[in-house]
Amino acid sequence: MKREVFYPPIGIAHVTNKLSDLILYRYKNQKKIIINTSAQPNSSPHLGTITTLMTAFALASKIRDDLKVETEVQFDELENSPAETIEYNEEIYYKDQRHSFYQQESKEQINMKRFNDILEKLSVLSNIAYSVRSYNEFQRNRYIRKSLINIVNDKEYFKELLFPSASDLHIRTICPTCGLGKKTIKKLEEKHNKNKLILNGYCPIHGLYEIKITEENDEYVDINTQFRDLTKGVAMLEEDKKNNTLTIMLDGGDWSGIWAQRMHTEGLVRLGFNEFPIRLFAPVILDWSGAKFSKSLYLKNDAYKDINGAFINYDSFIKCYGDKGIDILWKEVNNWVEDPKKFFRNYSVDYFQMIMEENNNE
Ligand SMILES: [Zn+2]
Repeated sequence: MKREVFYPPIGIAHVTNKLSDLILYRYKNQKKIIINTSAQPNSSPHLGTITTLMTAFALASKIRDDLKVETEVQFDELENSPAETIEYNEEIYYKDQRHSFYQQESKEQINMKRFNDILEKLSVLSNIAYSVRSYNEFQRNRYIRKSLINIVNDKEYFKELLFPSASDLHIRTICPTCGLGKKTIKKLEEKHNKNKLILNGYCPIHGLYEIKITEENDEYVDINTQFRDLTKGVAMLEEDKKNNTLTIMLDGGDWSGIWAQRMHTEGLVRLGFNEFPIRLFAPVILDWSGAKFSKSLYLKNDAYKDINGAFINYDSFIKCYGDKGIDILWKEVNNWVEDPKKFFRNYSVDYFQMIMEENNNE
């Protein structure tokens, strides 16, 4: 028996007839609208990551058609995410996706093959161009570096705002020779003034090292999620102004609410901004209990043994449903962006099981 699906008109969906209306107050005929989204290439993407990427392309396509403006998707690849941990002298160190290898190939290269495959498919389906920006490129951005220096110059405030439960700001450095980084930082070893920040690190193999951060240089610094989210906002606003573009951040719905307000908007206010990036959040895919469908949970304790394996990684999804499956998901996500009532809500794994069964048998 086909189950009925309800779309209660709640919150912003109650006052918005179409998603592009939410952009109008900031759209002043800029030459391009960019939809920015990001993911960690730490495994073959699961259903939630795939639908968020799809949402970025579907939204870009919808906005292009509604506003008759050129649109593009910008994908931020977070290859700085930890790939493995290694213990030296009772201290835990990590290596990121770029510095961790499996049979000569970095984890970044291995996992980005899947992401590139999905991005390519979505670009064809939507006829929307896309670009990939690595974290390495991101951290070289002068606005990112400048705001990191500004944050450290105001560290008492930002420690409380961004790290409510920690004893200090967390900024990670990795060894310039081998890429080993310390997993947890209790006290940030640094020196700073208005124009530069110097971080002191230690590698158990190569000894002490120093990372210098200025607006112009490009010595590598691994900033964590709070810093990244906030400084990305700064870079977006500055670059939009410089390039006559309008960038919209599109993330999974688990980044909405207090995270977006506190880590992002309140941080931008403190850094002197009074205009903020438009942020939209893709529906979250939930398990039966209402928890976010999570890859790390799955890998850790076999939490999803009763869930369709195709939803847990892209390779199995393609093996099970092929490109026809991608078409079914694409159609579904396009329905979301067509109607705010369908966009501003979440969907369960059971719901996806239902639509895959319905459409796959047609
Ligand atoms: Zn080293």
